[in-house]
Amino acid sequence: MSTIFHLRSALSTTMLRALSRTPAAYFRNGRRFQHSVTAPVVKETGLYGFDHLKTAKGFQRMVDDAIERSNELVNYIAGMPSAPEIVKAMDEISDTVCTVIDSAEFCRHTHPDRDYVTEASKASLRLNEYLHYLNSNPSIYNAIIRAEQNHHLLTEEGLRAACHLRIDLEKGGIHLNPEKLDRVNQLNIDILQLCREFNENIITDPGHVDIFPASRIPKRLHHLTKPICRPSSLAPKTSMGVGLGPNPKERGLRLMTEPNTLCSILQLASDTEVRKLAYIAGNSAPHGNLAVLDKLLSARHELSEVLGYKTYSEFALKGNMASSPEIVLSFLHDMSKMVRPKAEEEFKKILDFKRGRTGQSVEDLKPWDEAYFTRMMKSSAHNLDYSVVASYFSLALCIEGLKVLAESLFGVKFHEIPLCPGESWHPDVLKLSLHHPDEGDLGYLYLDLKSRKGKHPICAHFAIKGGRKISDTDYQIPIVALVCNFSGSNFQSVRLHHSDVETLFHEFGHALHSLLSRTDYQHFSGTRVALDFAETPSNLLEYYAWDYRFLSTFSKHYSTGDPIPENLVKSLLDAKNMFAAIELQRQVFYALVDQTLHTLQPSSFKDSISIVADLKREHTCWKCIEGTYWHARFSHLVSYGAGYYSYLYARCFAATIWQKTLQEDPLSPAAGSALRSKFLQHGGAKDPAIILNDLVGDGVIRNHNGGIIPDISGLGEELKLFN
Ligand SMILES: [Zn+2]
Repeated sequence: MSTIFHLRSALSTTMLRALSRTPAAYFRNGRRFQHSVTAPVVKETGLYGFDHLKTAKGFQRMVDDAIERSNELVNYIAGMPSAPEIVKAMDEISDTVCTVIDSAEFCRHTHPDRDYVTEASKASLRLNEYLHYLNSNPSIYNAIIRAEQNHHLLTEEGLRAACHLRIDLEKGGIHLNPEKLDRVNQLNIDILQLCREFNENIITDPGHVDIFPASRIPKRLHHLTKPICRPSSLAPKTSMGVGLGPNPKERGLRLMTEPNTLCSILQLASDTEVRKLAYIAGNSAPHGNLAVLDKLLSARHELSEVLGYKTYSEFALKGNMASSPEIVLSFLHDMSKMVRPKAEEEFKKILDFKRGRTGQSVEDLKPWDEAYFTRMMKSSAHNLDYSVVASYFSLALCIEGLKVLAESLFGVKFHEIPLCPGESWHPDVLKLSLHHPDEGDLGYLYLDLKSRKGKHPICAHFAIKGGRKISDTDYQIPIVALVCNFSGSNFQSVRLHHSDVETLFHEFGHALHSLLSRTDYQHFSGTRVALDFAETPSNLLEYYAWDYRFLSTFSKHYSTGDPIPENLVKSLLDAKNMFAAIELQRQVFYALVDQTLHTLQPSSFKDSISIVADLKREHTCWKCIEGTYWHARFSHLVSYGAGYYSYLYARCFAATIWQKTLQEDPLSPAAGSALRSKFLQHGGAKDPAIILNDLVGDGVIRNHNGGIIPDISGLGEELKLFN
């Protein structure tokens, strides 16, 4: 729903990873975290510290109160107070409504009690209806225009808030005639439903393939499959059905080709035919989403036309750094060109390796070969055993590492504090306060990092309460949460795969952005920034997962206590870089698919399959397999419509920031202080281009046709894409 308040709120809660990460499925069981801090006096409260949420039904009271308070503020605004008062009251409405919606959204994703989830969903629904009323309320719109006209009375941040609020309202169609506004509202409802349908189909129809006989799948993958059998007379002599034997029934295995299983099969199954069948099944489901996508693209196109834009992309990009589709496409084409030579080189290496292994010099490289052979090449070239790597990254130590990082860079301390009775939603949850010796408590962070039955399989950062200035002496401090799905029998036994360490650091980057921002308005708190700027701190923090100087401050072997060996970290990094160009090329291709589908006029629109196939031929080294349609489960098409390029923007910005400010000394307090005061502290309250220039100086962005493009050379150098 492109509603002013909801949109900004929803963005903060949907900062999911670009690449869907496989939660580690090792070390199962469940025991509570040990809270080590001596307990101060604790009072009984409700979920997340909200008194109303002592029971699930409390969500209803919370919504009632939020609506009542917002209505008071709307009446106040309608009386046309001064410009600063209008903006402040608007921000308080946004804060009031966002706090409930964000809490409800967070609860829906993490609470093990169905009653809470149900009540949270109802709360979201009711507030969404209320938002509809707010977003089409002319008195709010008139007031914000008036505030903008009286800009001399506003601070720089106040004017920016007024301008943003007006643009967001206009993106909801508030300035249109009633007939057009009705159409916009109807289209927004349709779009929301189509997005839900797209995502539900991905879950309910992951595709499957039946493999006979069962022995064709390695034993260690059998836990991902379901036993099946068929009458042996049905078993064909060719393809999968060799080895009939005298049995009346033949045993086989059914693979559901959802992304995690598919990923494991493609990496580990030595049988080419098995990989091929799994690849094709996984990339041809859910079929229903092709029609859903067509309808979604058409609804989005109509929406943007009613609102006066040429394409949906043009509409979606308004307010982003890349202010138009032409700018995004020109950036993506530059990236595509930059990465091509190295990607081709890497492709050739995999091909040669395959030919060497199979002894067939005319063998071609197929998409289902990539994960299998690159995994083999990485471990043989660098002698890497990923389970050994995990021995050095217990979750408890990684959290200690994050504390070291925050203290070294920003002089702030995370303290584990006890949860009050009623505040937690699961015994695994941990609460940290972020404390500065001079400034006091800066915010609170919940960690819900372990997987459990029924928990949403996501890794994400959630805002529960945004920061904002209440008065000259009072600041509402932010409350955020990190959710991951790491496995282990208890807190001490959770050991992270290195990719999980990277994910944790990524999410921690979002958390720092939220916790360290000090904006006047909640509307700009932490991650509430332009979409193509939002992933920058998280991408920057990922560098720490690969830096020996930092890792050596906390990483130790779980049983021997030996520090992590420097050459192990080097091997990890070398393995990561082995196919970095092919990986980047894939991300560029994804972003091009997203941008192209949202930029085409319906008149020039053939079917999405052939558009995606054309882009694949033009921008990757890989062949397109006839009849497959990978994009039917590219969920970012719905959640980040026309915004997927943002991840690449962030990678470029992060690469330059790392190289210019942190690479030399990643734990430098001076660099940390600059990062905080010039970047994180401002949240969305300052123009991202100004923030970037202040922090790194020239050479981080380029102005291009009225928009902003990242300098791509830093990333290119890091990945050794030149020469
Ligand atoms: Zn992120």
